[in-house]
Amino acid sequence: MDTDRYTIMLVTAGHQGAKSFSVKKSHIRLVFCSIIIFAFISLFSFSTSYIYYKDSAKKSQSVNKLISTINLLSQDIDENRMIEAKLRNKLQGIEETLLEMQEILQKKGIKKELSIGGEFIPAERLSLSYVDYMKKDIDDLFNTMISTPVGTPLKGKINSNFGYRKDPFKRKAGFHSGIDIDAHHGQAVVATADGKVIKASWHSSYGKTVIIKHEDKYETLFGHLSKITVKEGDTVKVGDVIGKAGSTGRSTGTHLHYEVIKDGKRVNPKNFLSLK
Ligand SMILES: [Zn+2]
Repeated sequence: MDTDRYTIMLVTAGHQGAKSFSVKKSHIRLVFCSIIIFAFISLFSFSTSYIYYKDSAKKSQSVNKLISTINLLSQDIDENRMIEAKLRNKLQGIEETLLEMQEILQKKGIKKELSIGGEFIPAERLSLSYVDYMKKDIDDLFNTMISTPVGTPLKGKINSNFGYRKDPFKRKAGFHSGIDIDAHHGQAVVATADGKVIKASWHSSYGKTVIIKHEDKYETLFGHLSKITVKEGDTVKVGDVIGKAGSTGRSTGTHLHYEVIKDGKRVNPKNFLSLK
C-alpha cells in the first residue's frame, strides 16, 4: 500500500456506486496550508481594513468636533463683533444727538457748551443696556429741548417786563402778558421750539401776530411784526424765521412782544430765555 497517498471515498446515501480517489498526502497538506494561509490573509486584510475604518471614523469624528468648535468660536467672535458694532453705533448716535443739541442751543440763542465727556467709563464696562439707558435719557432730553420754548426769539434788550405796568396808551396800571424786546425794523424773529403755526394774522392789539403751538402744553406768541413769513398750519423747527420785527398794532416803537403760554396761562417769558 502506498503510504504517501490518501484514499478519499465519496459514498452516496444508499451506499451504491461509491467513488474513491487517491490523492497524494503532500497535495492534501498543500491544500490545508493554502486554506490556512488564505484564511490568515483574509483575517489580516479584514482586520486592517476594520482598524483603518475605525481610525478614519475617529479621525472624521475629531474633525467634526474641530469644525463645530471653530463654528462656535466664530459665532462668538461674530456676536462680540455685533455687540461691538452696536455699541459703536449707539455711542456715535449719542454723540451726534449731543452735537445736535448744541446746535439747537445756539439756534435758541443760548450759549452753552454741552460737556461731552464726564465720567470716563472704560469700554469693557460699557454694556449695551447701560448705553441704551444713557441714549434713552439723552433722547428724552433732546425731545424736551426741541419742544419746549426755551431760548430767545430775537437778540435784544428787554425794555418791558411781564406783569403789571403802567399801560403806555391808557396811562394807568395794566397787565403786560409778555415781554418787549428791543429790535430794529426787519430783524428776524425765530421760533424758540418746534411746533405748528396756529395763528398767522392780524390781532387788534398785537398787529401782525404769529402763535405757535408746541408739543404738550406750550404756545408762544410773537406780536407787532412788520412781516409774517409763515402761514397757519405750517410746521416750524426751532430757529426757523417766522417773521420780521416791526411796530404794527398798538405799539409805540419797533419791538417784539413775546409771550409764553403754558396750559393756556400766560407765564413770564423771562424764565424761558435761558437755561438755569
Ligand atoms: Zn408787549
